[in-house]
Amino acid sequence: MIISILTICYLIGSITFIIGLKMLSHPASARNGNLVAAAGMTIAIFGTIFLYEEEGKKLGNYGWIFSGLVIGSIIGTVVAKKVKMTAMPEMVSLFNGMGGACAALISIIEFQHISHHMNNGVEVHKGLLLSIFLGAIIGSVSFAGSMIAWGKLNGKIKDYSYSAQQYVNVGLMLGILAIAGYLIFNLTPENAYWFYIIFIVSLLYGVLFVMPIGGADMPVVISLLNSFTGVAAACGGFLYDNKVMLTGGILVGAAGTLLTILMCKAMNRSLKNVLLGAFGGKKGGASGSTEQGNYKEIFLSDAATIMAYAQKVMIVPGYGLAVAQAQHTCHELEKLLEEKGVEVKYAIHPVAGRMPGHMNVLLAEADVSYDKLLEMEEANEEFKTTDVVLILGANDVVNPAAKNDPSSPIYGMPILEVEQAKTVIVNKRSMKPGYAGIENALFFQPKTSMLFGDAKAALQKLIAEVKNV
Ligand code: NDP
Repeated sequence: MIISILTICYLIGSITFIIGLKMLSHPASARNGNLVAAAGMTIAIFGTIFLYEEEGKKLGNYGWIFSGLVIGSIIGTVVAKKVKMTAMPEMVSLFNGMGGACAALISIIEFQHISHHMNNGVEVHKGLLLSIFLGAIIGSVSFAGSMIAWGKLNGKIKDYSYSAQQYVNVGLMLGILAIAGYLIFNLTPENAYWFYIIFIVSLLYGVLFVMPIGGADMPVVISLLNSFTGVAAACGGFLYDNKVMLTGGILVGAAGTLLTILMCKAMNRSLKNVLLGAFGGKKGGASGSTEQGNYKEIFLSDAATIMAYAQKVMIVPGYGLAVAQAQHTCHELEKLLEEKGVEVKYAIHPVAGRMPGHMNVLLAEADVSYDKLLEMEEANEEFKTTDVVLILGANDVVNPAAKNDPSSPIYGMPILEVEQAKTVIVNKRSMKPGYAGIENALFFQPKTSMLFGDAKAALQKLIAEVKNV
């Protein structure tokens, strides 16, 4: 009877994960989707704590379990409440890394149990060993890689690459897999220490794999690390024959893998190169160092007049919009222009901001209608018929170097081709570069005008001016 209630708890958990994930696919239902999945997870956790039995014995250790739960919940709640919206991607990386660390630690603990049984002459099941090794390898790569990604996103860690990096990475990965494969079939008490060497080398691989990734390629790595954590957790599910852990892990792994493929397509990169840490890293390039000439500024009143008399305005949001928290003000400008008969749409680049889907989340928060958001391909079609493009804190995603400068670290990445519109207005605070650290020739083109200032303040002033037109 107790077993079946636990099974029902796991079933509820698994179903809520699937429903939650489905709801996450639309900004309007995403928040509730998160709550639905969290409720299912809570049921599964408490079901395990109070109902799980092994050889007729309950889990026990309640003091330890609840201490961990309470400390973790307090830290998680405080950090999530305090984090600034712009630091969200770093936090996601940190939490993802913690998931990888948990999976790796589970493998280490279970390896110790297995070693104990092996020392007593019990034969170890190969499938069990496979789950333990995979959990340790993938979990530790995900943990170490996510920590480096966290450091890179908050600017504490700089890109680092060297000439033989691809060969070292391939060598390490092949070495890890070869030794793990050998041990799975030939594990003895004498060679068991190699498991810990594999664990340490996997951590090193995680560091070396993410260190060189630079330019504008971090989004691919972030989604890849996300999928690694899912797969590592699924290994834990196999290990414990725990259905809810397995379902959760597979869902995260599959969603992360699909996102990685989408990101690779968006960035025009191959997954093989991502895995080998073979791209990015080089900052500067021709576009970073060449003298681009002069740029021109535009008065607020002129910008307001051009926009108010336009037929179609396309807004290009970027990381700066998130920094300024200007999404609500931006929505206000959109409504005001529409009252004046202007058609307003948003062009969303898949890697704008600092996390996959960043701009969609931001604009959904401000109640911008979802059907006003154009994906990159659609937007690139519509720029031809656009009168004014208003770029709000975006830089790399509109940098033409991605198309015409092979030495640029973002070369090959599809961009929003804003220069096809009649007029381009760029709002940012200075001429400083964006995430990829390179200059942007768009800012120096004859049809481009710079509107300097913090995005929120500039938009507020622009709204006041448009009202007067
Ligand atoms: P960028 O980082 O290229 O540029 C943002 C611009 O915003 C900066 O040039 C900055 O200029 C400006 N800015 C900053 N604060 C403000 C403010 N308060 N008001 C107005 N402007 C401001 O952003 P994009 O969105 O164009 O591109 C995203 C980049 O981040 C890409 O290179 C992408 O690969 C990378 N990335 C994306 C991830 C993702 O998953 N989406 C993850 C990791 C990296 P100034 O200082 O002069 O104001």
